[in-house]
Amino acid sequence: MAEEFVKEITPRAEDYSQWYVDCVLKAELADYAPVRGCMVIRPYGFAVWEKIQAILDRRFKETGHENAYFPLFIPRGFLERESEHVEGFAPELAWVTRGGGEELAEPLAVRPTSETMICSMYAKWIHSYRDLPVLINQWCNVVRWEKATRPFLRTTEFLWQEGHTAHAREEEAREEALRMLEIYRDFLEEDLGIPVIAGEKTPSEKFAGAAHSYSVEALMGDGRALQAGTSHDLGQNFSRPFDISFLDRDGQLKHVWQSSWGVSTRLIGALIMVHGDDRGLVLPPRIAPVPAVLVPIAPERAREAVLGRARQLAAALEGVHLDDRDEYTPGWKYNDWEMRGVPLRIELGPRDLEQGKAVLVRRDTGEKVPVDQEALPRAMAQMSSAVQAGIKERARNFLQERTWPVDNLDQLRFRLEERRGMFIAGWCGDDACEAAVKEATGATARNIPFAPAARSAACVVCGKAAAHTVYYARAY
Ligand SMILES: [Zn+2]
Repeated sequence: MAEEFVKEITPRAEDYSQWYVDCVLKAELADYAPVRGCMVIRPYGFAVWEKIQAILDRRFKETGHENAYFPLFIPRGFLERESEHVEGFAPELAWVTRGGGEELAEPLAVRPTSETMICSMYAKWIHSYRDLPVLINQWCNVVRWEKATRPFLRTTEFLWQEGHTAHAREEEAREEALRMLEIYRDFLEEDLGIPVIAGEKTPSEKFAGAAHSYSVEALMGDGRALQAGTSHDLGQNFSRPFDISFLDRDGQLKHVWQSSWGVSTRLIGALIMVHGDDRGLVLPPRIAPVPAVLVPIAPERAREAVLGRARQLAAALEGVHLDDRDEYTPGWKYNDWEMRGVPLRIELGPRDLEQGKAVLVRRDTGEKVPVDQEALPRAMAQMSSAVQAGIKERARNFLQERTWPVDNLDQLRFRLEERRGMFIAGWCGDDACEAAVKEATGATARNIPFAPAARSAACVVCGKAAAHTVYYARAY
């Protein structure tokens, strides 16, 4: 039997980014690919992504969206039609210049996002107000040539969903962008247990080509922010160059109003960093691929009796994986499943068997509760809800403790040197002041929150009256 402790994970206090990589690699979520900047999502990590997909896909369909699929390759001319868009993405584009042994007449970009491709098709499909709204989502991969990469957080190729909608009226596109942001916010908080700040991006941080960009921002365990999802009101910025027009009820030819929105496999990085601890991952029960594991404690004398009952229980209980591997000790298995973030563990030993009991253990707090075997389904459902609520509460408290209002740039700088977190500060609206914060502190404007925790009277840089309250943070 293997007695050695489970694969070591670097403590967070010693080296946070090594801890993160250890979680990714040792819990077998992903591995480095033989292609620079790319990762392989392993079955356990992909199972988490499938859970995320299943919940979001249902919510997209409930709000009237349909899935479709568009090509991976985008002709250069498409990207060049919207000038801000091409400028924004130019440094990150990967190009295909040869195919079938020949130089291509027009190079093809590997999609960094699909606005241009999808707009070219909407121009073909939309003619009348009767064709609107068009509400389409695509689950796919995208490529952005990144210089510094980190599994799940920033990789050259990643998986995501991108919604693209077209509407007859400006306010409908704006409402759609905000509706989808609200779905992201609710999903992050209720299903992933990750509290977020919802708000509007500053003009310098908005999506290249958008009229308004909105985001949900989360705070990671090291006090750095992570943009967890974005939604854009595109106005007519794409419908004009792509000439997506429709004949309205009043007989006038008009351009449509559009939105686009997306979340990616980055969410898995957020899950690791918001909930994980020095033992490894802590997964919210709603998206854990293995909701509970049953570990039999079966010494030789009671082996058959314990294993027999364990098999019966595992077959009868929903979502329980029986770990009956012979070659590992129970202690080794505890550590292994804790590292993988399995929310609940059931222990069953000879004494439990005699008393008709089992022991339930919570991954997030380590709390152990003896339970009558007959009462397991109810006790597990209760404990599972308690874990889901408990990790969300912990993350919310952390976000509150690490959010500080600041009055001036020095205060922001000193505070940031002490501890990372979210800083609430006033902003006059001038790009130069926003740039000055970044220059002096490395913190960027995360968003202008819809509901700020505090309001600021004066710009943190120039001292003029604040037009907005902004969340600043160092971010991934
Ligand atoms: Zn200012």
